[in-house]
Amino acid sequence: MSDFRIQTYVLGGVSTNCYLIFNKNTREAVVADPADNAAYVLNKCRELEVTPVAILLTHGHFDHILAVKDICRAFPCTVYAGREEERLLQDPSLNLSGSIGTEQTGIEADVLVKDNDVISLIGFEWKVLETPGHTAGSVCYYVESERVLISGDTLFANSLGRTDLPTGDERAIVQSITEKLLTLPEDTMVYPGHGEVTTIRHEKQYNPVAMYRRR
Ligand SMILES: [Zn+2]
Repeated sequence: MSDFRIQTYVLGGVSTNCYLIFNKNTREAVVADPADNAAYVLNKCRELEVTPVAILLTHGHFDHILAVKDICRAFPCTVYAGREEERLLQDPSLNLSGSIGTEQTGIEADVLVKDNDVISLIGFEWKVLETPGHTAGSVCYYVESERVLISGDTLFANSLGRTDLPTGDERAIVQSITEKLLTLPEDTMVYPGHGEVTTIRHEKQYNPVAMYRRR
């Protein structure tokens, strides 16, 4: 059986899913979208006896990045984000930090990734899928060996990310979902930025984007 483990924490003012993913054998961990409340995430790391080595960002919105700096202060982590997301990560007027009473903030990624990059972390290979639309630099991370997709705010259970915020693009998100995500193996588990876990099989049947495509 695989050593891949994934825990979900719903954090922050807009209930964002933060995923703590770790190797049960090596106890190394990756934090995907550290939304908020670094102290909570760090406590969980201590409880589980895991050490974060990397942070994967699906995009730069404030509700996915607020705990990045504090986690990096506690553990030296490499921060990954899409190459088209650099400006949004840094600019509070684009990442919308400060919008709901949170502090204005900007962060810098250590590594800017692009489509089809494969990152080796905690004993697994993470393929980068560029999925513009929710933001111009949105990416998903796909672990083929585990049939796991971290989909950020691109694909949700029965839904999709909004496109009315800075750098959003409705045509682009539809194309990203239909061409890059719904073409993955049907048994892929989809871990979205908000809401319930789903599968590619379910979304091919019930997602409004898939239905739109069938018409
Ligand atoms: Zn977002």
